[in-house]
Amino acid sequence: MRFHNYDIVFQEIPDEVTLAINITHCPNLCEGCHSPHLREDFGEVLDTAALDRLLARYAEDITCVCFMGGDRDVPAVECLAEHVRTHYHLKTGWYSGRNEMPPHPMLFDFVKLGPYIPEKGSLKQRTTNQRLYRRNGEDWEDITGRFWRAVEL
Ligand code: SF4
Repeated sequence: MRFHNYDIVFQEIPDEVTLAINITHCPNLCEGCHSPHLREDFGEVLDTAALDRLLARYAEDITCVCFMGGDRDVPAVECLAEHVRTHYHLKTGWYSGRNEMPPHPMLFDFVKLGPYIPEKGSLKQRTTNQRLYRRNGEDWEDITGRFWRAVEL
């Protein structure tokens, strides 16, 4: 698994300061894909060593690590999420284009599901098919509406 780049973001996960890592070689075929370059297989290897290098710089400044993509290798994403939780005690998120929860959802505090469908729009639009869930213990709360309020304020 490889990644193109990363950024510290504030909107992708509500109420968190998030290190968002953009993973390449996306297997999804969303019509009207907003990031077609992320379908290509390129970038720096994303493993626990790469994650450690990033977190050596940013762990003190963030509250969450979010994996943007990685649907081609779900076990690898889960392994990295477990690494973050075990060694850094930060929250974890996953932006997936799939419609199903990962096999081990308890490794994540936030999971975004759903492919991008142009006529339904992104998470910021009320018509979206995509959903962002926040885990409360073993339950999942749909917090997609947080994006709509943020846009409408
Ligand atoms: S999940 Fe869909 S929109 Fe996102 S990079 Fe992959 S194909 Fe493009």
